Amino acid sequence: MVKEFQQAKWLEPLIFEIGGEGRIGHIVPNPDDEVKKEVGDIEKLIPEKLRRKDEPKLPELSEVEVVQHYTRLSQMNYGVDTGFYPLGSCTMKYNPRINEELASMEEVMWIHPYQDERTVQGALELMYKLERWLAEITGMHRFTLQPAAGAHGEFTGVQLIRAYHEYNGELDKRDEIIVPDSAHGTNPASAAMGGFKVIVVPSNENGCVDIEALKAAVSERTAGLMLTNPNTLGIFEERIEEIARIVHDVGGLLYYDGANLNAIVGKVRPGDMGFDIVHLNLHKTFGTPHGGGGPGAGPIGVTKELEKFLPVPLVEYDGEKYYLDWDRPHSIGKVKGFYGNFNVLVKAFAYILALGEEGLKTVAEISVLNTNYLVKKLKEIKGFELPYGKDKPRKHECVFSASPLKRDTKVRALNVAKRLLDFGIHAPTMYFPLIVHEALMIEPTETATKEQMDEFIESLRKISEEAYSNPEIVLSAPHNTSVTKLDEAMAARPKTLFLTWKMYLKKSSE
Ligand SMILES: *Cc1c(COP(=O)(O)O)cnc(C)c1O
Repeated sequence: MVKEFQQAKWLEPLIFEIGGEGRIGHIVPNPDDEVKKEVGDIEKLIPEKLRRKDEPKLPELSEVEVVQHYTRLSQMNYGVDTGFYPLGSCTMKYNPRINEELASMEEVMWIHPYQDERTVQGALELMYKLERWLAEITGMHRFTLQPAAGAHGEFTGVQLIRAYHEYNGELDKRDEIIVPDSAHGTNPASAAMGGFKVIVVPSNENGCVDIEALKAAVSERTAGLMLTNPNTLGIFEERIEEIARIVHDVGGLLYYDGANLNAIVGKVRPGDMGFDIVHLNLHKTFGTPHGGGGPGAGPIGVTKELEKFLPVPLVEYDGEKYYLDWDRPHSIGKVKGFYGNFNVLVKAFAYILALGEEGLKTVAEISVLNTNYLVKKLKEIKGFELPYGKDKPRKHECVFSASPLKRDTKVRALNVAKRLLDFGIHAPTMYFPLIVHEALMIEPTETATKEQMDEFIESLRKISEEAYSNPEIVLSAPHNTSVTKLDEAMAARPKTLFLTWKMYLKKSSE
């Protein structure tokens, strides 16, 4: 059954355009008065030249205006709490509310990174235990929890590869990092930012690394290989042990992009596959809301051999108390202020604690089951095909191609994605990985219900029928959303790009 859907459509002005002079919400004690009691006149604490001359031009609204404004905006939005969100590679699962509740506790919210260690034993214990759990889940020796995102973790991992080869006196000659052509774009970007040359190896007809091409690519110049497994097509690299041997035999390191661990969490471990460095996206696999820029966490795990290069500080336990260990002479230093995004670590800790070993295994099983249910049904829909390893099972996600549909009807993956919005379903990831033409990358996650997946299947079937009978309705979609078809190029042009209210006022007065 295809759902009738109509998104709210408020003609909502900007917050600067509503309200009026002198309007305010709740009256709270003036914090300046409190501070003044303690430190004297606050203005005097700030050097004259840094003090603002004019009053900031902030909007002035009553409480009810603020509440209504943001409620209306939220009704014109779509999120994981609205409905099905099969955005491949992003693992948009439901985030349990208990995680948010725990991360909002006063003890978490108001903790300060400069507090004396004796007063933050609970926070240190949480980081210590989370580190060990992640090590157990991935088969690695130790983790740093500092990186704030997957890409940040990758960059940290590439710095560790550098540190390792530098320590061995081989950095001069090892200047290449190998990346498969199915990799997430952040992989080659991180390798290049880390100062390495990127060597791309092709995938074979099964969507896996072409072993002969890999053998030809490795040499004494190889610093490492960055690999995602299951890869971005959702296919497990069965020959991973052979791949590890090929890279290790020439002295390179293996880096695991574990942003999407959903399919294998609790089942198989990158450490056992031969990986030396692993990053995880706590904000994808371990139940933290994400999108729109964070906050996230991209912890990095390493083998015993690489432990000494990890960022400082690490949390240690001496049998009585937890403490921060800064005394690590081979460390690459810090990669983020203080200890990482602590509130995300709290959410991941709560998530793992709540699910336990059995629960995590169930996550993997159901996320894989859901994907293969979709694969089986979507294969039957006219206009879509499943390239690479047609009969291979998929893991956390699958990538369909809308090439036949485009050839027959001129309807592209982009149009299909937009038309799905009309049925109250978030679009899949489009045009990635690059090795699939007209790609639609679909990841249901374990929290999708069968009813939601059936609605998705029926919606795609309807879109296919529309494309073959009345393509215009698909080409002009979306129709039922608060914002309809956008001029994608206009949003990126300097003349029409207003990032702030000030910019808008300035440009519109020109
Ligand atoms: C999401 C993702 C990343 C990047 O993670 P960010 O937290 O967005 O920086 C890297 N690799 C893969 C495979 C991903 O899906």
